[in-house]
Amino acid sequence: MDCIFCKIANGEIPSKKVYEDSFILAFHDINPEAKVHVLVIPKEHIHSCDFVNKSNSFNVSYIFEKIPEIARLAGITNGYRVITNCGEDACQSVKHLHFHILGGEKLPEQIK
Ligand code: AMP
Ligand code: ZN
Repeated sequence: MDCIFCKIANGEIPSKKVYEDSFILAFHDINPEAKVHVLVIPKEHIHSCDFVNKSNSFNVSYIFEKIPEIARLAGITNGYRVITNCGEDACQSVKHLHFHILGGEKLPEQIK
C-alpha cells in the first residue's frame, strides 16, 4: 500500500523518532506548527477516525495511554493539545490515522 505513514512505521522512510514500541510510533512532524509538534500513529494502517472499529480501537486507547509519556519525552512540560483530522473538510492530508501533539509554548486558544 502506498501510505507514507506505513512506510515511516516500517522504517522505509526515516523519521525523527520520539517513541516506538510494537504497536505505535511517535515522531516529529516535518512541518511543525508549534515549538513541539509530534505525530503519533498506530503501526497498523487505519485510514482515519471513520475507520476505527471494535477490532482496531485498542490502538486508539493505547495511544491515549501513551500520550503523556510521549509528550514528556518530546520535552513538553506545561500542557499540550491533541488533534486528529478526519476527512476532506478537516484537511486530512495523510490517510493513516494520526494524532498531532502540539506544545512547548502557549498555544492560541482556538485552532478553528
Ligand atoms: P494531517 O493534515 O492531519 O493529515 O497531518 C499530516 C501531517 O503529516 C502534517 O502535519 C505534515 O506536516 C506531516 N507529515 C507529512 N509527511 C511527513 C513526514 N515524512 N515526516 C513527518 N511528518 C510528515
Ligand atoms: Zn498507512
